[in-house]
Amino acid sequence: MRTTQMLMPTLREVPAEAEVVSHQLLLRAGFIRKLASGVYTYLPLAMRVLQKIERIVREEMNRQGGQELLMPIIQPAEIWLESGRWHVYGPELFRLKDRHDRDFCLGPTHEEVITLLVRGEVRSYKQMPLLLYHITNKYRDERRPRFGLMRGREFIMKDLYSFDRNEEELDVSYQKMHEAYTNVFTRCGLKFRPVEADSGAIGGSSTHEFMVLADSGEAAILYCSHCDYAANIEKASLPAAGLDAAVPPLELEQVSTPGQKSAAEVAQFFGLETSQVIKTMIYRTDKELVAALVRGDRDVNEIKLLNVLGALTVELASETEVQQATGAPTGYAGPVGLKKIRMVADHEVMALVNAVAGANQGDAHYKNVNPDRDFKPDLVADIRMVQAGESCANCGGTLEEARGIEVGQIFKLGTKYSKTLGATYLDENGKEQPIVMGCYGIGVSRTMAAAIEQNHDADGIIWPASIAPYHAVVIPVSAKDQGQMELAGDLYDQLNRLGVETILDDRAERPGVKFKDADLIGYPLRIVVGAKALSEGVVEVRQRRSGQVDLLPVDQLAEKVK
Ligand code: ATP
Ligand code: MG
Ligand code: MG
Ligand code: MG
Repeated sequence: MRTTQMLMPTLREVPAEAEVVSHQLLLRAGFIRKLASGVYTYLPLAMRVLQKIERIVREEMNRQGGQELLMPIIQPAEIWLESGRWHVYGPELFRLKDRHDRDFCLGPTHEEVITLLVRGEVRSYKQMPLLLYHITNKYRDERRPRFGLMRGREFIMKDLYSFDRNEEELDVSYQKMHEAYTNVFTRCGLKFRPVEADSGAIGGSSTHEFMVLADSGEAAILYCSHCDYAANIEKASLPAAGLDAAVPPLELEQVSTPGQKSAAEVAQFFGLETSQVIKTMIYRTDKELVAALVRGDRDVNEIKLLNVLGALTVELASETEVQQATGAPTGYAGPVGLKKIRMVADHEVMALVNAVAGANQGDAHYKNVNPDRDFKPDLVADIRMVQAGESCANCGGTLEEARGIEVGQIFKLGTKYSKTLGATYLDENGKEQPIVMGCYGIGVSRTMAAAIEQNHDADGIIWPASIAPYHAVVIPVSAKDQGQMELAGDLYDQLNRLGVETILDDRAERPGVKFKDADLIGYPLRIVVGAKALSEGVVEVRQRRSGQVDLLPVDQLAEKVK
């Protein structure tokens, strides 16, 4: 490709709206343009990078036995009602109606769609394990879309779902994905770390986030300098806060309530009034809520909404208050604000007896709950964020802190969706069993941005070779010089023929402009064809990352840089 023919509009100025480096550089280097808040067009250079990341992702998914399919983005509300998530997903779900006034949403994720597919098509234990994935746009009406591709409202994700016969086989699928993710991010040339994360209300099961290490990362990670312990700060803090330990096992009758999610459904199940149902999602699995708050996924209004259901109140310092009190930069009020979360039980709830409350695990409720007797209202106040310098719970070593960008997450779902959506199979003995599931996501567009956060300097992007839009740029110093232009054109042809993806900067610009753009766009190699190329037969080859410059004979260039 020749620069004069390509749409790659570079900018000299740093765009005012861009706060983080990747956003600034993606705009300046002509990779993206904004259409609406959190919604971007990917220009040709960006497409090349995205396609390379996707190719690596596909190869690693396929290597583990993943099968690619493509599911719809538009999803009918019925399936979200069936899974119980239509009413709990909150304002992040983009909802829309068709001309017949039927409700739909734009998929933020695809558990419902894939579980229903598998429910219809998988009957026997012989059809598993099954690893199904797709790469497609996802839609999340993020509370605060920002940082360009880092937190978009439309973004590209690879999501794979595993279907297994039992927990042991889920472990195998999970390990395969752990390995695949490690390979993907290694091949993308990124420094990253898998960290333990909190699995929230689903409880017990494990989950890891893959974090690209970068100072601008939204997530705080704690890792041990002596052993391989690494966790995000919520996960590191929550067990240490002893939330579970602090709540003694309730001596209450636990009742299995599969699929009963909303307060109304639970009330009907037990033959009670809705007001007698305490949505203890907040109360006893407050870990999940707190983790969501720390991540900034949920805002105070939403929590109040959740609370209306259970008549519990959460008092939170507003983000602004927290920021003022702590001097925390925008976006980081979560972890520091945590200490200020206080939970108080509503008097009405406290006065209840014989209420029903969630059992802090899937599909179960407690009967005959007396909130005053059975719950301690101030538990959340005990939570304290673990900090660098404290000792590792595993080995006693010292914990270090780093910041990271979540580029992927792997998650053991267990039977959460298969039970609510009725995805079962017949085992060896002809007995019906729920399918055991896992889900595994990679933010493809976020990975492109994360690569830049980790690989840049004052002049621009420094692409890892495996995901660079082009490997090399050939720059004739003077576009007016016929000889230089011809030689540059020959080298460009030769390199492309050898498989070195090369672009020719054939613009009639001053060399300084072309060099600046080459640095900004971040091609790993810059090949300059100047007067010496004609007189002495040498071209200048400069490595973007190291700055190393080599003078190479023209006739050896193609072989050398291959
Ligand atoms: P975050 O904590 O950043 O909100 P998430 O935990 O909600 O992300 P997942 O549901 O785990 O995201 O989705 C899988 C992957 O999709 C994430 O690891 C991330 O790389 C990517 N992703 C999620 N939300 C966005 C977004 N708004 N913009 C770009 N990529 C995203
Ligand atoms: Mg999110
Ligand atoms: Mg997350
Ligand atoms: Mg995640």
